[in-house]
Amino acid sequence: MALTLYNKKRNFKETSEPAGKVKGSESELIFVVQRHKASRLHYDFRLELDGVLKSWAVPKGPSMNPKDKRLAMMVEDHPYDYKDFAGTIPEGNYGAGIVEIWDSGTYADLANSPREIAEKNLRAGLKSGDFKFQLFGKKLKGEFVLVKLKGKEDNSWLLIKHHDKYAVDSEYNSEEHTKKDSPINKWLEANKKLGKKTAKSR
Ligand code: MN
Repeated sequence: MALTLYNKKRNFKETSEPAGKVKGSESELIFVVQRHKASRLHYDFRLELDGVLKSWAVPKGPSMNPKDKRLAMMVEDHPYDYKDFAGTIPEGNYGAGIVEIWDSGTYADLANSPREIAEKNLRAGLKSGDFKFQLFGKKLKGEFVLVKLKGKEDNSWLLIKHHDKYAVDSEYNSEEHTKKDSPINKWLEANKKLGKKTAKSR
């Protein structure tokens, strides 16, 4: 049931995204952050829970600075296999554009409990709208919270870094933590040139 909406939105004859099956990791829980150039560039923040990836679209990307409160719109659950997806979603399809993996790793509850207890804590946090966890990524490390906004649209949350040894107090822009030759950056660079040409020829 959890992946019905995901499957409904996609035509698997056209997109190379994985079809939705409920299936989780066997040892540690995982997270992934995908950078996605669709109609707008955004980041997709995904945490494994109960055999799917709980997912939020973060327009400005995650931050390692606790002062930043990054809007995160909860979207439909994605299948566990989506963690490895990178590539192009063809035009005319849902989310058409380019997807690349920005960060990935394992994650846990704040106490770093054994899996079964961690999942219980994480499930409760998610349900309460005060969802605390810690990430063991290459870029994202340490404690974070997703706070559900009350009185706003049902799916609005804020992603906030907690103060810990990994937090930074300088400005943090996730766009500066991308590889210059990443597919999206190449696309942006080519489009910038194209934009200039068009402006000149006018
Ligand atoms: Mn997306």
